[in-house]
Amino acid sequence: MILDHESRDSHAEALEFGRAYTGLLDWAIRGGERPRFDHAPERVHAMLTRYLDAIEKEARLLADHDPKASLTKLIESRGQDVRSFRGNVKLTGTAVGVAIAEMPAGLLKRLAADGRAAAYLPKKEAPLILLARYGRPELDEHERRENLPHEMQHVLWRWGSKAIAKNTESNALVAHGFQMYQDELLARAVSGGALFGYTHLRGVSQEELAATLGHDPDAKQMVETVAALNERWRDVETNLNGRNVNQIKHELLFDIMQAGNFQDLLNLAERTRSRYPALPNPSSDDAMAGWAAL
Ligand SMILES: [Zn+2]
Repeated sequence: MILDHESRDSHAEALEFGRAYTGLLDWAIRGGERPRFDHAPERVHAMLTRYLDAIEKEARLLADHDPKASLTKLIESRGQDVRSFRGNVKLTGTAVGVAIAEMPAGLLKRLAADGRAAAYLPKKEAPLILLARYGRPELDEHERRENLPHEMQHVLWRWGSKAIAKNTESNALVAHGFQMYQDELLARAVSGGALFGYTHLRGVSQEELAATLGHDPDAKQMVETVAALNERWRDVETNLNGRNVNQIKHELLFDIMQAGNFQDLLNLAERTRSRYPALPNPSSDDAMAGWAAL
């Protein structure tokens, strides 16, 4: 069943949440005054306070760990020579103790299989966000603007989700799949990235899926659910063209975080699709305007 009814209040809450949340994320990256949520509605205030407390607790636990040691370990674990990285990696601190490690794209390729930005979160060691540097200002700026919030979101969610998220999927494999999907969806929504095109399920847990797909109907169903979600998000993405895309995506954060299972996300995608129907084609509008003027 799809609940279409949404009160004005819950939308206002989602709006406030999106605004406050992007402030929190910005603070995590850039520092400055610890975010306060005084003007947010009570539920938003309570949720973000619990979340931020959980994040700061994790950050404190890792505060004494050296990001350089973490980076060295990562390089060595990939079978690479630390010397080729020396003097080529720029480490910058953040408010939550995650170091941003920027390095030439060629070096990043040696650490991350696809050569793309990544969050590195080893247990009991300093966390890192790896970013590529291309030596071209506009590309480097793009890398920071899009990938930094995306990767920082992965870190914050890893630390803070236990304080606010619920996962009600009963099948362990599906529960894990849901957790990963929700995590990636949030990271895309905060950075204005495309909401569809999720391939992690195939990419990361291929073996796990292959081993269980044959005799686990729930897992099989999950693959279809993700495909259905993809379809809906693709429609949403198309319909958002010409609208305030980033703001609308930020408004989705509240509901994505509160979703407890794939069905909740299917409902959300459907609600979003009906909330933002396709806009009339601007070129045909212009043609009509021309006729009216005549
Ligand atoms: Zn991601």
